[in-house]
Amino acid sequence: MAPVEQDMRQRTSRWPAAQDIWRLRMGYSGPHEIESSVTSFLARDHALFIDGQFVRATGTDQIAVDDPASGKVIAQVSSASSADVDAAISSAHTAFEDGRWRNLRPADRERILLRLADLLEARAEAFAQLETLEQGKSIHMSRAIEVGASIEWIRYAAGLTTKISGRTFDVSLPGGPTRWTSYTRREPVGVVAGIVPWNFPLMIALWKVLPALASGCSIVLKPSEITPLTALWLAELAREAGVPDGVFNVVTGGGEVGRWLSVHPLVAKISFTGSTVAGKAVGTAAIDGMKRFTLELGGKNPAIVLEDAILDKVVPGLLTGGLLNGGQVCAAVSRIYVTRNRFDPLCEALEAAIQAMVMGSGMDPAAQLTPLASATHRAKVEASIQQAAEAGVLIRRGAQAPAEGHFVSPALVIDPDEKTPLARQEVFGPILSITPVESEEEALQRANDSTYGLAASIWTQDIDKAMAISQRVQSGTVWINSHVFIDPNMPFGGMKMSGIGRDFGSAWLDGYLEEKAVCIAH
Ligand code: NDP
Repeated sequence: MAPVEQDMRQRTSRWPAAQDIWRLRMGYSGPHEIESSVTSFLARDHALFIDGQFVRATGTDQIAVDDPASGKVIAQVSSASSADVDAAISSAHTAFEDGRWRNLRPADRERILLRLADLLEARAEAFAQLETLEQGKSIHMSRAIEVGASIEWIRYAAGLTTKISGRTFDVSLPGGPTRWTSYTRREPVGVVAGIVPWNFPLMIALWKVLPALASGCSIVLKPSEITPLTALWLAELAREAGVPDGVFNVVTGGGEVGRWLSVHPLVAKISFTGSTVAGKAVGTAAIDGMKRFTLELGGKNPAIVLEDAILDKVVPGLLTGGLLNGGQVCAAVSRIYVTRNRFDPLCEALEAAIQAMVMGSGMDPAAQLTPLASATHRAKVEASIQQAAEAGVLIRRGAQAPAEGHFVSPALVIDPDEKTPLARQEVFGPILSITPVESEEEALQRANDSTYGLAASIWTQDIDKAMAISQRVQSGTVWINSHVFIDPNMPFGGMKMSGIGRDFGSAWLDGYLEEKAVCIAH
């Protein structure tokens, strides 16, 4: 082995990779037996959650849920019919109209949401295990993010419940001797449809449920058919926390269920997270019915690495930012633009790191890369790598993928032609492309040359350059010397084809509230 390569291998072995970051953050705790509550939940005859009860779907269609690490079926859930969707929306609508939730004092709604956080915390390990079993992600990430961060999100949203307020203002136009006082109220919009993808099923479900409940709305939640289990368990927990019947409903099934929700006349607001293709269909249906909507869509997120960047920080940062959850993260890095003088060392370091990664089941605490969520998605990701390789793109593969399960060996795509579909389209897998650039200006121009605009990162020690570039990057979030960190208090959402609207932060509930002006003559 050449000395430079040897040195690089020694250095990369020091860099914690991907899931190791989460392991370090959470504390390494070794393998766990699957909890008996998880085993018995999996064995249930799963139904829909409507009006506070688990109810049988009217049809007999079932959806098999598999464990991505083995491909074996672990549960069957019902596929809702349009009549079931009607029943769920009607239950949510009745609950909204009779005020059983929205007319509670804000502090009472807050208390119930805080209780939900406590209940989830008490069952954190069981929820984390269930999420890893249905979605495939590392148990460390399920503990730290899917459940751990979700608990913080619940508490953050609970706090917003008591902060909803309007404004009081004077009016200007003459009204004779009459005096006028005007003020605004913020009122819950009505029934919310929450449509969720399969990459972070519990956390993204909560990103719909929480603003809806904090605002006083009721909700019908549709998880992805690939990962429906934690949403069903969450609904049961919400009932235990004191959320009244009918306020929180779950219907399982595929895209048709999402479509029925999007066009239903009693749905007032749609909160959708998923692909840009499905998001456009949802947005079109929403406009047609004049519903409010929020779309959190895909990304093809750039990282700009400048010549003074510290590679010891850049490498683990890009591995975490790009390969977390097998790259199935909307904000994941997928395009790296690096100044030419750092191109070779960065390529070598990334290649050495992906080759040294341990692939395995999410339940294996030593696994750094875990399977993709479904066989269909695995085939799609492999096909796009294959297509690019056949077109002559240089691709370095990492650790060998296990034969069973939906594993994909990570890929480093070297200096692809900008027109290659792999370089332009969201693939949502463990793939990083790396391209040398001659200047910061070129890096910025290439970073912005995308229909997407979700997230980006800049890696440099020069704060002036970082500030200047961050203002010109076209994306909803820009990180400096990190990538993929999100927080309940930091607005998140996309520019361009990455979506419409923002979640989180103090204005999170705005999309779930109508502003009503009240004008008093006196
Ligand atoms: P999809 O868009 O395929 O599906 C998302 C959800 O919408 C699923 O529940 C799906 O049902 C449902 N759905 C599909 N078609 C329609 C339709 N026409 N009308 C209504 N609902 C529909 O996305 P994936 O589940 O494949 O998730 C991956 C995508 O999600 C990626 O593009 C990723 O970038 C994006 N994403 C964006 C995030 C963000 O915050 N910006 C965060 C996480 C993911 P079913 O799957 O059951 O058929």
